[in-house]
Amino acid sequence: MKFIDEFRDPAAVRALVEKIRRDAGDPPMRLMEVCGTHTASIARSGLRSLLSGAVSLVSGPGCPVCVTPDGYVDAAIALGHKPGITLTSFGDMLRVPGKRSTLEKERAKGIDVRVVYSPLDAVALAAAEPDREIVFLGVGFETTAPAIGGAIRTASDRKLKNFSVLPSVRTIPEAMAILARDPEIRIEGFLCPGHVSVVIGTQPYEELASKHHIPCVVCGFEPLDILLAVSMLLRQKKEGAARVENAYPRGVAPEGNRKAREVIAEVFAPCDTGWRGIGVIPGSGLRISDRYAAFDAERKHGVPVIFAMEDTPCRCGDVLKGKILPPECPLFGKACVPEEPVGPCMVSTEGTCAAYYKYGGGLR
Ligand code: SF4
Ligand code: SF4
Repeated sequence: MKFIDEFRDPAAVRALVEKIRRDAGDPPMRLMEVCGTHTASIARSGLRSLLSGAVSLVSGPGCPVCVTPDGYVDAAIALGHKPGITLTSFGDMLRVPGKRSTLEKERAKGIDVRVVYSPLDAVALAAAEPDREIVFLGVGFETTAPAIGGAIRTASDRKLKNFSVLPSVRTIPEAMAILARDPEIRIEGFLCPGHVSVVIGTQPYEELASKHHIPCVVCGFEPLDILLAVSMLLRQKKEGAARVENAYPRGVAPEGNRKAREVIAEVFAPCDTGWRGIGVIPGSGLRISDRYAAFDAERKHGVPVIFAMEDTPCRCGDVLKGKILPPECPLFGKACVPEEPVGPCMVSTEGTCAAYYKYGGGLR
């Protein structure tokens, strides 16, 4: 299969692993894969154990579901209990715990929650059911923001009065900067998220590399993509360099996707926002701009999303900051399993804890 098999070729993987082992220093370079899809791919292909002793790979906050605060789930549930409201959401949000419940449990009690596959499906539903108020749970990073923004724009063009979005959109480079400053995490290089970079390009990582002297390599999702990026990070370390490089040029242009960025700039405005387990990161959120306030469910329905640090034994925050690996959480595999998740990292297939649970722990 073109563009897949060649990035999984076992002989090429072996050669690159050997090169990485030859180039590795002691102690192993500590790298963060920022994105949940990288975490899942690394776990699935066994790269953590293949590279063990040569580089140390820690997971980052790159799953939007995992970093959505419980206050957001609570606000969505409160909205769902209002008469006449239908919530629409991507499926993986339904089992994410709020303070006391989940959307799935509340749906069993009678609130109307429907799974959609794109924000435009929610707009279509609003057009088809004008007597109901359709609220889309707009959770995501720069990757989903253009589709959410596009749906708001479509609803505005079609003058739909019964559609709104409860936004929970975050931007990744600001979170990476916070992690880069944390001496406890000691990140020496970033595998920058491929999908996010398709939209934002490579430029937003420049400040990270220059200000914090951390090498950054934009990385695709196949095993060879990841190994190539790791090898490029090792080379930068050897040279004492900290620059932004692109190991995923087939997906990412330096300037990103101009059209997608235009939609984001038109429909959203930057804001401070809270990340589950991490706290408030200045400038790391996207709220709906005043021009489209009529489509902002928080303002339209008076249900604010309130952020407070979670009071829970779940160690998701430390997992998302790369401070611990999932098996180090005392609940991992015991009180917390994919069928009965305590924290969001165990909910989705790309959550770090779920990836470790499925493909094996102890892969440091
Ligand atoms: S579970 Fe996967 S697809 Fe869903 S938000 Fe997290 S990273 Fe994205
Ligand atoms: S194992 Fe469960 S409780 Fe522990 S950090 Fe992961 S999601 Fe949270």
